[in-house]
Amino acid sequence: MTTEDGKADYDVLIIGAGIAGMYMLHRLREIGLTTRVLEAGTDVGGTWYWNRYPGARFDSESYSYGYSFSKELLEEWEWSEHFSPQPENLRYCNFVADKFGLRRDMDFNSKVTAAHFNDIANLWTLETEDGKHRTARFLITAIGVFAKPMMPAIDGIDSFKGEAYHTATWPHEQVSFEGKRVGVIGTGATAVQLIQEVAKTAGHLTVFQRTPNWCAPLHNRPITAEEQKEIKTSYEEIFAKCRASYAGFMHDSDRRRALQVSDEERQAFYEKLYREPGFGIWMGNFRDMLVDERANTTISEFVAGKIRERVKDPAIAEKLVPTNHGFGTRRVPMETHYYEVYNQDNVMLVDLRETPITRIMEAGIETSDEMHEFDMIVYATGFDAVTGGYSQIDIRGSGGRTLTDKWADGVRTFLGLQIEGFPNMFTLVGPHNAASFCNIPRCIEQNVDWMADLMTRVKADELNRIESTAEAEEEWTEHVHLMAQRMLFSKTNSWFTGINSNIEGRDQRSVLLYAGGAPGYRDKCDEVAAADYAGMILH
Ligand code: NAP
Repeated sequence: MTTEDGKADYDVLIIGAGIAGMYMLHRLREIGLTTRVLEAGTDVGGTWYWNRYPGARFDSESYSYGYSFSKELLEEWEWSEHFSPQPENLRYCNFVADKFGLRRDMDFNSKVTAAHFNDIANLWTLETEDGKHRTARFLITAIGVFAKPMMPAIDGIDSFKGEAYHTATWPHEQVSFEGKRVGVIGTGATAVQLIQEVAKTAGHLTVFQRTPNWCAPLHNRPITAEEQKEIKTSYEEIFAKCRASYAGFMHDSDRRRALQVSDEERQAFYEKLYREPGFGIWMGNFRDMLVDERANTTISEFVAGKIRERVKDPAIAEKLVPTNHGFGTRRVPMETHYYEVYNQDNVMLVDLRETPITRIMEAGIETSDEMHEFDMIVYATGFDAVTGGYSQIDIRGSGGRTLTDKWADGVRTFLGLQIEGFPNMFTLVGPHNAASFCNIPRCIEQNVDWMADLMTRVKADELNRIESTAEAEEEWTEHVHLMAQRMLFSKTNSWFTGINSNIEGRDQRSVLLYAGGAPGYRDKCDEVAAADYAGMILH
C-alpha cells in the first residue's frame, strides 16, 4: 500500500462527512486544495445520519448548534424547535451540503479500513472496504467520538428471533413499536430519549438498567414566529456567548460556589435551573459543582428529590436514583417525561444490579430470576467512544508504527489534533481535544478554522510534511492529565474515562477528554499558530 512516485491523488483526504468533515471540505476548497471526503454512509450527516432512533434530538439549543460561518446560511435556515429532532437535523446537514455543493467531492459507501503513511513520499494511502486506494499528502480524520457502536457482550445475542436494533445503526425505514413487547438495554442519553418514545405505543416495554443516570428535564418546545425573528437578529450574541463558555454552550457556570450561599438560596437556584430548558443545570450551575464533592452532593440530593417526587412507586424511584456517582460526573441525559414513563402500567424496570442478564435466547432476555419474552430488543448500549473510531482503522504512521501500538499505554496527542510519529495526519474532535467535551459544532469550527490556517500555510510554502515533536506531545498530554485530575468525572466510570464493560481490558480509567475548557484550548491553539506552529516541525 505505498506510492513511491510522490504524486498524490489529492492534497487532502478527509474521513467522515459529518459536521466536521463537511465544514473542513468547504474551507479547504476555499484555500484551493484538492480534497476528497470518504464516508461510510450513503450520505452526509455523520451522527445525525446514523442515530435515527425515535426520540433522537439536540440537547443543545438548536440555534447554538448550527454552523456560524455563513451569514447567508444563518439567514436562510429556520429551526422549528428549541431542541431540534434528528429528522430536521439531518435535513439541515443536507441543506448545507446542497447549498455549498459539497457532495461533488465526497465518496459515499466508502468505509476506510486502512491508512498508511509513506515516509519517503510523504503521502497517506487510504484503503476503503471496496478495495480501492486513494492517496493524499494530508489526512484529516473527522470521525467524531462515536464512530464505533458497541453491542453488549452477552451470551446468545445472535439467537434472538425477533426484531433487533442498535440505536446507532437504526434502519432508514420506519420502525413501529405499536402493541409490541419491547426490551431496551441501556439507560444512557440515547436510551433515555428512546424510552420516552417507545413507551407511548409499545404494548409492553421492559427497560434493563445497569447504572442509573442523573437525568434532567429538557423543556423543549416549538420556536414561535416572534422568537424566530429574535434568533435571526441575535446570532452574534448567541455565538459570542458560546465562545466565552467553558464547553461551547449557551450556559456557563455561575460564579458562586455552592456552599457560599444559604440553603434557601441554593435550593431556589436549583429549582430555577430545573425549570429552565437545556443544559443550564449541568453547565450553568455553581462553579464548583463538577470539582468539589461537597458542592456536588447538594445538587445530587436535589435531583434525587425530584426523581422521588416524579416516580410514584418509591421502590422504583430508588432504583432510578444513582448511587455510585454524583450529578454531572457522567453525561447528563436530557429528558421529557422520562421518569413519568415508570408510572405507566405498560412499563417495567429491571435493575440489573439485582438480577443480571444471564443470556439472550430465541424468545428474549433471561435474567438471573426471570425470562422476559420480546418481539423486539433495542440495544442502546453506546459506543467504543473516542478512540474506537481510530482503532477500527489500520492506521500506520512513520516507520509503519500502528496507532494501536502508539496508544497501547494510553492516548498521547499534541493539542488533540496531531500525534507524534504520524506526520501529515490531523484529528478533528480527536481525543485530548476540547471538541470532545463541547457543544460540538462550536468546537468543530475552531478546530477546522485552525486547520484551515495551517493548510493555507501549507499551500503558500508548498510544505510536504508536518509533524509534532515528542516534547510537544509530552507537554500537552501532561497538561490534559492535569486538567482531568481536578474534575470529579475522572473518578467515575463512563465513556468519559474510557470504561467499557463490553470490551476486554477496558476496566481501567484513562484520560481521553480535555477538561481545561474551550476558551483555554482555543488560546493554546492560537498561541501555537502565532509562534509559527511551535511544537510542530514544518518541512
Ligand atoms: P452510553 O452513555 O455509553 O450508555 C450506554 C448504556 O448501555 C448505559 O446505560 C450502559 O450501562 C448500558 N450498557 C452497555 N453495555 C451493557 C451491558 N452489557 N449490559 C447492560 N447494560 C449495558 O451510550 P449512549 O446512551 O449511546 O450515549 C453516548 C453519548 O452519545 C452520550 O453520552 C452523549 O454524549 C451522546 N448523545 C448525545 C445526544 C444529544 O446530543 N442529543 C443524544 C444521545 C447521545 P452502564 O452505564 O452500566 O455501563
